[in-house]
Amino acid sequence: MLNFTVGPVTLDKEILEIGSNQIPYFRNEEFSAMTLESEELLKQSINSPSDSRVVFLTASGTAAMEATVLNLFDQEDKLLVVNGGVFGSRFTEICQIHSLHYKEIKLNFFEDLTNDDVIPYEKKGFTGLLINIHETSTGVLYDINLVKEFCKKNHLLLVVDAISSYLADPFDMEGSNANAVIISSQKALGLPPGMSYVVLDKKAQDRVSEISFKSVYFNFNKYLFDGERGQTPYTPAVSNLIQLNKKLKYIEKESVSKIIKETRELAVHFRNEIIKLPFKIPTKSPSNALTALTPLTSISPESVVQSLKMNSDIYVMPNGGELSRKIFRVGHLGAITIENNQYLLDEIKKNLKTIS
Ligand SMILES: *Cc1c(COP(=O)(O)O)cnc(C)c1O
Repeated sequence: MLNFTVGPVTLDKEILEIGSNQIPYFRNEEFSAMTLESEELLKQSINSPSDSRVVFLTASGTAAMEATVLNLFDQEDKLLVVNGGVFGSRFTEICQIHSLHYKEIKLNFFEDLTNDDVIPYEKKGFTGLLINIHETSTGVLYDINLVKEFCKKNHLLLVVDAISSYLADPFDMEGSNANAVIISSQKALGLPPGMSYVVLDKKAQDRVSEISFKSVYFNFNKYLFDGERGQTPYTPAVSNLIQLNKKLKYIEKESVSKIIKETRELAVHFRNEIIKLPFKIPTKSPSNALTALTPLTSISPESVVQSLKMNSDIYVMPNGGELSRKIFRVGHLGAITIENNQYLLDEIKKNLKTIS
């Protein structure tokens, strides 16, 4: 099986091995020390301000998105949500269901965020902005500098869902003035699914303590308090945290820039080759994490996905809803190589002959 999805991705041997070990007791000093070390390494990997803290949440990315919004904002706030696809629309759903005041900056699929999109919202009393810096459903990587300038000028709290961009595209928390950054285990980190890590700067931590958010499990105050001694309020995905520590040490040794460079090389290699076949890449600013592809002939994206699965045991990603008829996506994350890319390209070529 070859996995070209963006998550869960193909795991390294070392990470798999940890997953097969017995689970150690975690309410002790060794485990606390490891978690504190992971907090520092994670912060380093995105250059977060030194007084930032990490909430280690045993929950999928969507839970982390929802919890972050509810720990940082309340009815007094007015939020802006950048919505260019499935994940942007998830942020609007979160605002909606919790009756938070929000406006969405609705973008067409594959469209970049530009100054023209944000200017109408200047000096209109907004207090926060929510963005998935890589909109995973379309492959568009938004311009973080544009977002940074807009938020700075208008004094907005900036929440960045970097789940599918972390370790694939360069990101600097301090440099982009982000107040909260959301990361999950199953994308470029190459860990099993189940955990999310929310990095909060000082301003965001202050918000957490000011807001009265009613939740037993998702209240970040408890995580920040117990986190000071390297613990979580409830049983975490213990193995996942051990795997995270192993991976973060590897990342520190290799350097974030080297890991991003390797992902970019995989993406560029694939893109250079796939455009020789009857496909086009609909995004102008693609993330290194994945390539969205539109067939140029009458074949449907779904049939490409299906044939690769059935005939070649290769998994690429179909889209849902309206996008299902426009694109499918090929990921560049996890333990994959240029040779794997080449094999995928050969198999796409073979399958095209059978599905016209
Ligand atoms: C994968 C992803 C998530 C997380 O989704 P879950 O299925 O809840 O883990 C959130 N945001 C983005 C941008 C993603 O790519």
